[in-house]
Amino acid sequence: MSVDLHTHSSASDGVLSPPMLLARARHNGVAMLALTDHDNVAGVRELQQLTAQPQDPELVAGVEISAQASGQDVHVVGLWIDADCPALGSLLGAQAVLRGARAQAIGERLARKGLADCYAGALLQADGAAVSRPHFARHLVAAGHCRDESQAFKRWLGRGKAGDVRCEWPGLASANAAIHAAGGLAVLAHPLKYRLSRTRLDRLLAEFREAGGDAVELVSGAQAPHAATDLLKLMDRYQLVASTGSDFHSPAQTWCDVGQQLALPRQATAVWELRGAA
Ligand code: AMP
Ligand code: MN
Ligand code: MN
Ligand code: MN
Repeated sequence: MSVDLHTHSSASDGVLSPPMLLARARHNGVAMLALTDHDNVAGVRELQQLTAQPQDPELVAGVEISAQASGQDVHVVGLWIDADCPALGSLLGAQAVLRGARAQAIGERLARKGLADCYAGALLQADGAAVSRPHFARHLVAAGHCRDESQAFKRWLGRGKAGDVRCEWPGLASANAAIHAAGGLAVLAHPLKYRLSRTRLDRLLAEFREAGGDAVELVSGAQAPHAATDLLKLMDRYQLVASTGSDFHSPAQTWCDVGQQLALPRQATAVWELRGAA
């Protein structure tokens, strides 16, 4: 069964509209799909209004919350959430304010580097969604400053660059609590993307568990097959179950299409086995 519990739409920094994303998942034979846009549930709401088509995947309402662990920005995916939960809504409202202020600050920093009008350009790219760095990257490409988004991150937006503006995201306990208030399960997203040493990864998993976390993305995107083996050992130590997702953003992102990431190892307990136990 193909399951994808981490995807993005144009309601955040994805390229496809929510219905187009759903159509792509259907076409790819996905049986269970979570839309997990960054810090908002507008796309989930849109999909929940649609009349289901034959062959549609089972839709899981999700969100990817930007958070901070000790000394590290991380992402926490909430799955099977109630998109109308007031406590979650209040956290997401605060995230929107943080994102707005950060986008302006990024624009100012880039302007000081001689790149004018990036804030306005990113707003255009976002087309009503909360602004994130990929919107700046797309503007920098459209304006001819960079060859592609990857170069935009390397030069201007990635770690330590002018557009890498710090944000006081909520702590892990707040992110997990908002997800639990909404009846969902809290999943630490793409742990291998944070490029931590094994000791620090171990500490992050311990901290996430201590903060009420339920699961970890054991498989994310185009991960190497052996990468899951060691991670699964750490997850077992902290009794964290396994999730899986492509982190799909765009059809141009050729390394992992919707639902095409590696299967979960057979020894892993899948997060959907906990459904209803939250
Ligand atoms: P933000 O939510 O504004 O902090 O932006 C983070 C998003 O930028 C991630 O969710 C990715 O979609 C994207 N991203 C991060 N690093 C890179 C990179 N090196 N190249 C392309 N996209 C990236
Ligand atoms: Mn993203
Ligand atoms: Mn992420
Ligand atoms: Mn993501």
